[in-house]
Amino acid sequence: MSMKQAIADSVRLGSRMLIGDSWRASSNSIEIPVYDPATGAELARIPQATESDVDDAVKAARAALVHPSWRESLPITRERLLLKLADLVEAHGEELAGIETLNQGKLLGVATGIDVASSVQWLRYMAGWATKIEGSSLDVSFSFPPGTKYKAITKKQPVGVVAAIVPWNFPMLMAVWKIAPALACGCTVVLKPAEETPLSALRLAELVLEAGFPPGVLNVITGDGATGAALVRHAGVNKVTFTGSTEVGRLIGAQCGSDIRRVALELGGKSPVIVLDDCDANLAIQGASAAIFTNHGQVCTAGSRLYVHKKQFDKVVGGIGDIAKNMVLGSGFDPRTQMGPMVSERHKQRVLGLIATGEKEGAELVAGGTVSTSEGFFVQPTVFAHTSDAPLTLLREEVFGPVLVARPFDDIADVLRQANDSEYGLAASVWTSDISKALRISDGLEAGTVWINTHNVVDPNVPFGGFKASGIGREHGRSAIDAYTENKSVCIAY
Ligand code: NAD
Repeated sequence: MSMKQAIADSVRLGSRMLIGDSWRASSNSIEIPVYDPATGAELARIPQATESDVDDAVKAARAALVHPSWRESLPITRERLLLKLADLVEAHGEELAGIETLNQGKLLGVATGIDVASSVQWLRYMAGWATKIEGSSLDVSFSFPPGTKYKAITKKQPVGVVAAIVPWNFPMLMAVWKIAPALACGCTVVLKPAEETPLSALRLAELVLEAGFPPGVLNVITGDGATGAALVRHAGVNKVTFTGSTEVGRLIGAQCGSDIRRVALELGGKSPVIVLDDCDANLAIQGASAAIFTNHGQVCTAGSRLYVHKKQFDKVVGGIGDIAKNMVLGSGFDPRTQMGPMVSERHKQRVLGLIATGEKEGAELVAGGTVSTSEGFFVQPTVFAHTSDAPLTLLREEVFGPVLVARPFDDIADVLRQANDSEYGLAASVWTSDISKALRISDGLEAGTVWINTHNVVDPNVPFGGFKASGIGREHGRSAIDAYTENKSVCIAY
């Protein structure tokens, strides 16, 4: 089957969602349009799941949890099924990458090399965890009546029905980050993809059934924030795992706090990139450009604040500006393209609005600053220099687009103060040949991940999550297993 044919089939699939073993429309037949961001053309219409559809999906997930009891399935069964799913995703990699490029606008090389390849890697990694979940055996001091001995053991049990709500920047990969560990632990899942980019999640759901997972173990409901909110407040959900904006994360956190429901939040960022005076300027120029422009800046860890030592400032900022000016924008399917569109017209307008605010507030425009074509949702890669101490919205607000603000600094204390002066704390990078300075700066940075001489490296074995308003909880590695299990203590008298 050709890639275009496969994509066309997926688009047709886009008019149905998966609840249990049935593909269905919304109970009130309301649909939401889905667009190709490179042209602005409508691609498909997806169901807007209603409260009653959400209820059906949670019931299907609950049923699969207890009968035929996914939560008590053998670890090796879960491992094998996840490995089979990884093989299927790999085998359909070309098609899945094509769907991401068509629906999200990203470069096909990124969709293939990151979205699909990492999804396969995460599924295989988490498959391995299914057979390695363990508790502990604990000595107990309590002894009553005298002479009675006690032993305690701990056991990790699946947390239950997981509501997974994901954003549109890496649609399938963000879903896999949640589905893979949840299924490995014996949880069942109701997944809600972003309304802008539901197509790869729906195709993934087909592959989950093809791999042999029992119906109801994964359910995919489509819709906008109203559908997400109905899922979050459903009493049958044991845990909500959310990746998205801090604004929505606050609402979800408040709801889960009031319901005493387990919640993990992977939220926004305003990540600093710090270039020290000893750094090779060319390395810093390439590294800082990739940190902000990868996936068109639509990355939660995008290096959107650049702090360059004043000795290197003009050279590094000028170099990044030149890269921005020469970038080729276009369809993600065109191999010459270096940057694709914003995901939606609404998001494009938001990014342009923040750029205009930057200019109004006195930042110096080094490159970009406007739309690049009349068709599609394109915004030019944009670089600002801001050397005064005047307040600047662009230093505070997440743009989630290809917009960089550069500032000079004098010394380590100065740059740490500036870098930490943010409500966010997702990630940061330090560029230097002095490892001792790099480690000292990394100790002082308020960020869940610090990269040294690199940026945006994420691995299934390395915990990932935010400090401060960038989130609560950690994904990946052992942390992910902890996130989808409850610890039960069992105490035995003997
Ligand atoms: P968003 O918060 O608007 O939407 C994310 C998801 O939440 C979508 O599926 C949306 O339909 C749903 N949603 C919206 N309102 C809701 C509500 N009231 N209740 C429940 N669900 C609701 O975010 P976005 O614009 O899709 O994604 C961009 C954001 O995601 C950025 O802030 C980015 O930093 C963040 N992000 C974070 C990470 C991370 O790991 N920390 C990774 C990727 C993206």
